[in-house]
Amino acid sequence: MAIEFSDRLKALPPYLFKELDRVRDEVKARGVDVIDLGVGDPDRPTPGFVIEALSEAAADGANHKYPVYSGMNSFREVVAGWYRRRHGADLVPEAEVCSLIGSKEGIANFPLAFVNPGDVVLCPEPGYPVYRSGTLFAGGEAAFMPLLEKNGFLPDLRSIPEETLRRAKIVWVNYPNNPTGAAASLEFYYELLAFAEKWDLIVCSDAAYSEVTARPKPHPSILEVPGAKARAVEFHSLSKTFNMTGWRIGWAAGCETLIRGLGLVKSNLDSGVFQAVQLAAMKALNSDHSDVAAMGRLYADRRKALCDGLDRAGIAYLHTDYTFYVWAKVPKGLDSKGFCARLLEEAGVVSTPGNGFGPSGEGYVRFALVQEVPRLKEAAGRIASLKF
Ligand SMILES: *Cc1c(COP(=O)(O)O)cnc(C)c1O
Repeated sequence: MAIEFSDRLKALPPYLFKELDRVRDEVKARGVDVIDLGVGDPDRPTPGFVIEALSEAAADGANHKYPVYSGMNSFREVVAGWYRRRHGADLVPEAEVCSLIGSKEGIANFPLAFVNPGDVVLCPEPGYPVYRSGTLFAGGEAAFMPLLEKNGFLPDLRSIPEETLRRAKIVWVNYPNNPTGAAASLEFYYELLAFAEKWDLIVCSDAAYSEVTARPKPHPSILEVPGAKARAVEFHSLSKTFNMTGWRIGWAAGCETLIRGLGLVKSNLDSGVFQAVQLAAMKALNSDHSDVAAMGRLYADRRKALCDGLDRAGIAYLHTDYTFYVWAKVPKGLDSKGFCARLLEEAGVVSTPGNGFGPSGEGYVRFALVQEVPRLKEAAGRIASLKF
């Protein structure tokens, strides 16, 4: 029997990193001490008090049953309280917050609730690939909004053709941004919401990195804008904030109708997050965030360690206080893939080619600061010794 994948799977873009993965494995097999700055997954463990909360909750039989797909009431109250404290935003827990099995789950499923065939979803590029794949799975069309250096890696809303806007249903934004590390101001969110009102768009804001910073104040949330709840939803997660990528817990918060639609999809597809994980997440969100602040300072030290080598090598990069990424410019005469290959073969450093995140990522590479300072100093020294 000839088994064929569905058209929807076939419509996904090809995996761009196959060749680089092969080279990395080959370099490793040669015995080279490879420093992996490729994947955006925190290397440090989850804070101990969160793990203890999980163990305790896991032992309680009351938590062994199917959870409610939208989250425990207490979890949703804690999320609402977190928004009040961190962002001064008011949310009705039972109507305006929904738990997610990691924010990726919600990002991927959201278009199923609101996108019909032929609808356009505006997706930033370079960007997290899930905005686009979720759109394609829902039968929608993804239209890219290039994030360019000259615009501070913010989308140029005015340059989107009217013809596209008339068919557009959703606009995605992600700040602090993966892969560039760029931040957005509260003014940007005001402008975005006014624009969305004009074109009748749903606004989806992915805030996975809002707490990944050495700054004392968090990055602004779109929910700080008065009236944002009329059309906006924010996707958030404990993954990057508390080093919990493996735990799979996040949330969507904002517009009641948007939360209800997402919830309807979810009630047909999944059965929520293990309650013990929700209880541990509540401890994390209600904590004083001293661990989060310490991680922010650590990433700042790591950024300095790597960027020192980039400076010595004459490689430019975006200066930022957010995320754990360094978005670096490829030296003249090379492209993203060629630069990554040379970093790997000649310095044993793994990076991600920028064009893997979208066409405007060509000419850049992304380093993830997921190694300790001495390893990053070693990587910096090796890069600084290369000639471009
Ligand atoms: C890591 C990441 C996420 C979310 O991850 P989850 O673990 O699914 O919560 C969402 N958006 C971006 C841009 C990310 O980098």
